[in-house]
Amino acid sequence: MSITQPYAHDFADRHIGVTTPADISAMLDTLGYTSLDALVDTAVPASIRKTDRLDLPAARSEEEILADLRALAAKNVLKTQMIGQGFSDTHTPPVIRRNVLESPAWYTAYTPYQPEISQGRLEALLNFQTMVADLTGLAIANASMLDESSAAAEAVLLMRRAGKAPATARVVVDANVFPQTLAVIRGRAEALDFDVEVTELADELPEGEIFGVVLQQPGNDGTVRDQSALIAAAHARGAMVTVIADLLALTVLTPPGDQGADVAVGNTQRFGVPLFFGGPHAAYLAIRSGLERALPGRLVGVSRDSAGEQAYRLTLQTREQHIRREKATSNICTAQALLAITASMYAVYHGPAGLRAIAERAHGHARTIADSLVAAGIALAGPAFFDTVVATVPGRADAVIAAASDAGINLRRIDADTVGVSTDETTTAAHVAAVVGAFGAELAPAVATGELGFDAGLVRTSEYMTHPIFNSMRSETQMLRYLRRLADRDLALDRTMIPLGSCTMKLNSTAEMESISWPEFAGIHPYVPEEQSRGWRELIADLERRLVEITGYAGISLQPNSGAQGEYAGLLAIRGYHRANGDTERTVCLIPASAHGTNAASAVLAGMRVVVVKNTETGHIDLDDLRAKVDAHRAELAAIMITYPSTYGVYDTDVREVCDLVHEAGGQVYIDGANMNALVGLAQPGKFGGDVSHLNLHKTFAIPHGGGGPGVGPIGVAEHLLPFVPNDPTGTYSVSAGIPVVATLFGSAGVLPISYAYIAMMGADGLTRATKTALLSANYIAARLTEHFPVLFTGESGLVAHECILDLRELTAQSGVTAEDVAKRLIDFGFHAPTLAFPVAGTLMVEPTESEDLGEIERFIEAMVTIRGEIDEIVAGEVALDASVLRNAPHTARAVVADDWDRAYSRERAAYAVPSLRFDKYFPPVGRIDGAYGDRNLVCSCPAPEAFEN
Ligand SMILES: *Cc1c(COP(=O)(O)O)cnc(C)c1O
Repeated sequence: MSITQPYAHDFADRHIGVTTPADISAMLDTLGYTSLDALVDTAVPASIRKTDRLDLPAARSEEEILADLRALAAKNVLKTQMIGQGFSDTHTPPVIRRNVLESPAWYTAYTPYQPEISQGRLEALLNFQTMVADLTGLAIANASMLDESSAAAEAVLLMRRAGKAPATARVVVDANVFPQTLAVIRGRAEALDFDVEVTELADELPEGEIFGVVLQQPGNDGTVRDQSALIAAAHARGAMVTVIADLLALTVLTPPGDQGADVAVGNTQRFGVPLFFGGPHAAYLAIRSGLERALPGRLVGVSRDSAGEQAYRLTLQTREQHIRREKATSNICTAQALLAITASMYAVYHGPAGLRAIAERAHGHARTIADSLVAAGIALAGPAFFDTVVATVPGRADAVIAAASDAGINLRRIDADTVGVSTDETTTAAHVAAVVGAFGAELAPAVATGELGFDAGLVRTSEYMTHPIFNSMRSETQMLRYLRRLADRDLALDRTMIPLGSCTMKLNSTAEMESISWPEFAGIHPYVPEEQSRGWRELIADLERRLVEITGYAGISLQPNSGAQGEYAGLLAIRGYHRANGDTERTVCLIPASAHGTNAASAVLAGMRVVVVKNTETGHIDLDDLRAKVDAHRAELAAIMITYPSTYGVYDTDVREVCDLVHEAGGQVYIDGANMNALVGLAQPGKFGGDVSHLNLHKTFAIPHGGGGPGVGPIGVAEHLLPFVPNDPTGTYSVSAGIPVVATLFGSAGVLPISYAYIAMMGADGLTRATKTALLSANYIAARLTEHFPVLFTGESGLVAHECILDLRELTAQSGVTAEDVAKRLIDFGFHAPTLAFPVAGTLMVEPTESEDLGEIERFIEAMVTIRGEIDEIVAGEVALDASVLRNAPHTARAVVADDWDRAYSRERAAYAVPSLRFDKYFPPVGRIDGAYGDRNLVCSCPAPEAFEN
């Protein structure tokens, strides 16, 4: 076996695309190197090089890792979860689980910045927006936030920004919001230095200047109430109101919009997304009209394509984080697209009547429990509730919870005298009986489903989800075909290389993905007692240890839900450190001009002042400018944020000097670890000058991009920053350090088995070989393409790191063909475009990753060289730009088969420019999309079906 199939048991050989000696030496020949190590030794500066091998356990095979994960999963204890507190169990319809959550067509897609190849997921996200807007009764919803608590914090900032109250005004938060949400809001407010007043709100507001009010429906104690008087009172005082609302409850309750609220936020987890030990889940944020321009996150809108057909795209793109930089209002980049899509499909599948039935059933069970407890003389938090009954049992909480636990059910311990019970879609009559028994009560007669136990004034009267999409997909056959139809409109990694610089779109292997939906992982509530999550905590601790070894830091916090959240958390750690040293005036954050947009946005959110440092013409940090800025801000210097290798895809040789300059002035060094794929096994940011870094597990460590999330952005910190890493928002695990950034201690725990499996299967050698191969492939592409498109930056070695920037500006000046034209033309070749216009306008940044094989790399090179030939025809005056195949790209099937073809090029050239396309041809469903039209005519919910008719 091992003779005929030498690689059969080595996962690294499956993960890495270029493995044969013949391929490797062919590529090295082109580059003029005799060995991969010689290439790597030249590319990576010796001053940062790690010389010894990573100290990691031996690589595991796919079979072994699945067995390891089974053993870890078996250490978790799976019970019926009736804890609630923002997380409710749900049935993921199998057709959605297998064909969305577990389908590479969905989970390997990138964020839909190239809308022509993203119409499927854009439609799914538009369904999400429509569903949220309808259920909340508000005008517009975005295409997902991270978790409920951080979404609530974003809503607070939105109210502060959009309102007219003075900067000294405070936010008033009802004491009846979940404790984790309160903790996250407090953290944000602390960083930005405004006050949070937490108080029990009845119908009156406290005195003094208030910019916003935050309410929750149902409350932390499960009660629901009419909030309209309070909302009107807030408006009369010039304050805005955010309601944190449970979407399922809103199928039967008067929604926040109907009550007059300005903003609604919440979790959509219970719409078919597993508990996942706390995440990933898609939070939502909806606003009344008039607040569009203050909305954080991404917004899908309707526009039209070059043929005048309706088409979707991200709207108001000028608000995207890449452009806003220090004027940013939010740092959200990676959100929760895959989970938002899952939730939207759950709504499409069940429809409004199905959702209402699920809500009524959960409500009926809760009422039966309440009736039973009341009959036994037990006091409840209030008479009106949706699915959560909070019972007062003086001195008996632990006994009740233990009895329920013995019956296989987890309840919520609020304090020694108070127990919470939450019903959900999965609750059965047997669960109800067991819970009642645990309280020592008699089971009351079951309440008839459909009878609502709250005042008529609270019963929802407005319609929702009336659009045909929510009312036509009842059979599984229909649903299956809808999911397939949408997936087929898109290009994801399961069909093509996605050579996006800075995004590291590598293989997300099936063995890595498989365990995430196992019930022993996916079914664990984030607030279960410690002894029920042993497997989870062992996996997490092990992953942390491995990431410590890889990064060279002293510790890791896995809480942040995205790279940008990691930046925010890391900067808060720096801030906390300075404050603890009495250096409260250290608030300046130096950021190079080339930095990713989230860097500056996160600095602003962490209460820092951004000072931009210039880059030299060769792409390095301008050391003279850095010295000048350090001198000018010496006393107030908090930190510098650098990316390494730089966003220009180059290993700067003077990175140690940069770090020393800042340290010497008392500042801290934040190294953005998004480019870690060029470092793993070769260098450690924690050892060459960094005090803190975030990693993007959804880039370097194999978590799929999900069409725009989930992400995991853990931070690694040096010893002295350990006391300031994010703490546990609920105190469940008695971690008390810095400020929590999201709702649960371990953030998006549910997808951590992916990175765990990746690292374990690759082992030290596999990981290092992956990095080296990523360098080889990027340099090979750079070498092959530079005569056609000059490579903008190379290091002193003449080499790039793991990505290369192709400069089109000269060609654009000569021909008028833009980088965008090239990006769109690549679609005709079946490719997702490289990163467009970041970090330099007029360029394309190409990152092949280690997972692409030489055949696919050659296919890309062939496409690019062909495109260069097409540009030359324009330069030579043979075709006019407007008539060119480039400017008219991409080409739909409909366009090329149309009876009236009067273009300057042939149909065959439009669609089949190279022979390899004959058998594998992707046609985009729409032509090039007119973005400006959609911005002028903002439509952010599902258009009426007639709109599709021409
Ligand atoms: C991707 C990226 C980020 C942001 O990460 P998210 O997970 O999208 O928030 C930050 N910096 C750089 C350089 C990146 O490439």
